[in-house]
Amino acid sequence: MALSVIQACRSLALSTWLLSFCFVHLLCLDFTVAEKEEWYTAFVNITYVDPDTAEVRTEKTECGRYGEHSLKREARGVLAMPATTQDRQACDPNSRFTPRAHGAWIALISRGNCTFKDKIRHAVGHNASAVVIFNVGSSNPNETITMPHPGTSDVVAIMIPEPKGRELVLLLERNITVHMHITIGTRNLQKYVSRTSVVFVSISFIILMIISLAWLVFYYIQRFRYANARDRNQRRLGDAAKKAISQLQVRTIRKGDQETESDFDNCAVCIEGYKPNDVVRILPCRHLFHKGCVDPWLVDHRTCPMCKMNILKALGLTSSAECLNELPMDYELAVGGVALNAMVMSDDVMGGDVAGGA
Ligand SMILES: [Zn+2]
Ligand SMILES: [Zn+2]
Repeated sequence: MALSVIQACRSLALSTWLLSFCFVHLLCLDFTVAEKEEWYTAFVNITYVDPDTAEVRTEKTECGRYGEHSLKREARGVLAMPATTQDRQACDPNSRFTPRAHGAWIALISRGNCTFKDKIRHAVGHNASAVVIFNVGSSNPNETITMPHPGTSDVVAIMIPEPKGRELVLLLERNITVHMHITIGTRNLQKYVSRTSVVFVSISFIILMIISLAWLVFYYIQRFRYANARDRNQRRLGDAAKKAISQLQVRTIRKGDQETESDFDNCAVCIEGYKPNDVVRILPCRHLFHKGCVDPWLVDHRTCPMCKMNILKALGLTSSAECLNELPMDYELAVGGVALNAMVMSDDVMGGDVAGGA
């Protein structure tokens, strides 16, 4: 029964452990998913007539990035920027845009001074069909970000890198009509491992490690204590057995004794028959064996090899400590340290009993 309790405890501990691990990992997964960001690149196709050579020039690059709240669709029109050089950032609600052709137009605005949302709202207020904001002040010239612009999600808004923006501004300043066509590029999925989740995972991992280490240390200390107590008990039981053996009857087989007859049982230890002059030990259960065979057996086992009768009990030398010998190794772990102390104490009491009994 003790064994099944131990097994139940072990499987419970293991399943608790596994469950907590799964729980932690699920939480981590949740965190990672929460830190996932989806963004789209934009192909920016510009067409203009070079005034020097009168050639039509077309450039197409995947340099843009759609804003977080932007419509993910294509847009086309003539490029226009705020009319005054002081207001390239379109932070003033009254910013004027001067498209160089009729029809759909796209606003080209510099980043900075006000929010993306404000710039987009001002441009849309002047009927822009899309908004292109170029990055400013970035250490990496090709850098763009996914612009957040909540509340202005009914328009196409993209960001382009600073050099591309400056190039377009120069063209517009030379009064060149630039046609722009924005199309959806590649879908990107970016996963962040946020600082919070790293800290969370580390802390939970450390806690789990500490718990398991503490459990391991506890387990081995208990094992060690139990083994010690068992060894001591074994020694005392051996001493008690020697005393008991000295009280048992010894006889020498004579010629013509019934033990020498061929139908008499052999010695159960060495499986040899008894011959005249053999010295035999007679146990309280009346079973007899060669003295040289049964004495070492009794020191180790304290029971009759035939009927399992306990000689300590039969001679009244028994004590509660005898039970400890029969306990499985894990019993102590199942019942905890208190029981062990009780056993060690009863062990000491037993020592007194044996001395008294002898
Ligand atoms: Zn024998
Ligand atoms: Zn017996």
